[in-house]
Amino acid sequence: MTRKIVIAGNWKMNTTLEEGLQLATSIRNKTEKTTDLDIILCPPFTHLHPVSQCLENSAIQLGGQTLHMQEKGAYTGDISGTMLRQVGCAHVLIGHSEQRQYHQETNHSVREKYIAALKASLIPIVCVGESQEERESGQTFTVLETQLREGFQGIENQIQASCIIAYEPVWAIGTGLVATPQQAQEAHAFIRQTLKSITPYANEIRLLYGGSIKPDNFSQIIQQEDIDGGLIGGASLT
Ligand code: PEP
Repeated sequence: MTRKIVIAGNWKMNTTLEEGLQLATSIRNKTEKTTDLDIILCPPFTHLHPVSQCLENSAIQLGGQTLHMQEKGAYTGDISGTMLRQVGCAHVLIGHSEQRQYHQETNHSVREKYIAALKASLIPIVCVGESQEERESGQTFTVLETQLREGFQGIENQIQASCIIAYEPVWAIGTGLVATPQQAQEAHAFIRQTLKSITPYANEIRLLYGGSIKPDNFSQIIQQEDIDGGLIGGASLT
């Protein structure tokens, strides 16, 4: 099964609008002839519309960093899937560990947001991953399985081949610590195996590794059988 490689850049809460537009323009110029990768940029909400204009007529796609589970209403500070779609997003990150840590994201809210994303015709990029403590106490697989099973509970038939899952060990995000290619492959193989018991699309769904990816460590990671791309934070800003 060949799965097209995905490179997704999560800018987090970084870049001024001017810097964001410069970055998007430079990525656009450097990847003009690239056809063998899906490239997705996830800038801050305030940059989405201008960045989408800057990427017009390019193959680069745009994603939100999260969304609200409701379509509209009294949710000060939140953004709906429809709003993301209207400013040119095709994707949205759900369940990023920083949302889990700082914004009370749970497996239950991941599930609700997944449904909301599909309703808005957005492709969800669902993030899962264990903390350092969980890895050290041998719970990595249990944590991943729980995140997947609870995140998709009762909506297994809504999982689409186009949906993307990112394995992001929390201990590797923004820390400079990177999973070894073997550790990453082992987790990805486990995720794919678990998906096989949930959906018929397990072999088509693209699984991304995320966690301190840099140009010098990515080439080995991407060679692993079950790794179909990268979700890149810090290094995506340069
Ligand atoms: C991320 O934010 O999803 C991420 C993987 O960050 P970093 O590459 O900086 O570790």
